[in-house]
Amino acid sequence: MSYVGPDFEPPQPRRSRRGPLTVALAALVPGALAGWLVWQAVGDHKEGGSDRTASAASSSTPRSASPSPSRPSASATDDTKPGTPSAPAASSSAPVVSGSLKGKVVVIDPGHNPANFQHASEINRKVNIGTNWKECDTTGTSTNAGYTEARFTLDVAHRMRDILEKQGATVKLTQDGDRSFGPCVDERARIGNAAHADAVVSIHADGSAAGNRGFHVILPASVHAGAADTRPIAAASRDLGEHIAGLFVRETGSAPSNYVGDGTGLVVRKDLGGLNLSTVPKVFIECGNMRDTKDAALLTSGAWREKAARGISEGIVGFLHG
Ligand SMILES: [Zn+2]
Repeated sequence: MSYVGPDFEPPQPRRSRRGPLTVALAALVPGALAGWLVWQAVGDHKEGGSDRTASAASSSTPRSASPSPSRPSASATDDTKPGTPSAPAASSSAPVVSGSLKGKVVVIDPGHNPANFQHASEINRKVNIGTNWKECDTTGTSTNAGYTEARFTLDVAHRMRDILEKQGATVKLTQDGDRSFGPCVDERARIGNAAHADAVVSIHADGSAAGNRGFHVILPASVHAGAADTRPIAAASRDLGEHIAGLFVRETGSAPSNYVGDGTGLVVRKDLGGLNLSTVPKVFIECGNMRDTKDAALLTSGAWREKAARGISEGIVGFLHG
């Protein structure tokens, strides 16, 4: 479909043999990283390469992040019910000490833009991502019922901002529904760089085939080409991504992707401008597959998005405290 952009390739059906087992193990082990560590210990960890490009990052033209003064609340964009932040079930969540992120800057990059659909020519403009030229931005995917990825990413970003600001972090969004399109992927990277962010996370949900399920975190490959030089941030970004993957499992109970990453929930890519052009630790997360009905049921639930936001945020906290 057009929303996946010209570089879409059908996902490889690589099913993890140990996804359910490792997640079950992860759920049994308390503590911030224990789940991830167990998970890591259980199996081999081949990195999926850049074998899939369904949803790219995005970026645009103007250049100030200009956080919106209005700040829509997370539930404002909720298609179902407002989240239930108390969520007793998963709340073995180590309560983070208030103010513990004072002085830290976190940039959240809500993938795509709800208005990209109306700006095809602008978002199709090519921008240089170091390794090659790529579309400024893409529309993103949607569920079969029409809940768009752009709405999803903004909602999760708002929830994360609430959580992280409560911890004392300075939080910036690359877009807050306040632009007519984009930003372009190169600008999304520049926003994190200019903010001297301690961590940047780009929020997405995938548009893969039905039956493909689960989340994966995308880590920057070590790239040195043109304006792209991720060598200084590759290791820290992996550390950030591993923290996020572990805490995402714990908070949501979701399994790592059954179609990329060989069950690790981690994929390394060198084709995303938002990662290639970053000079600060940065990862993407594909929270689930919008085109799978079971994953879609989660992604459209405000309560689930609250858990997702908490998992990603706690991963960031773990990384920053590391
Ligand atoms: Zn996306």
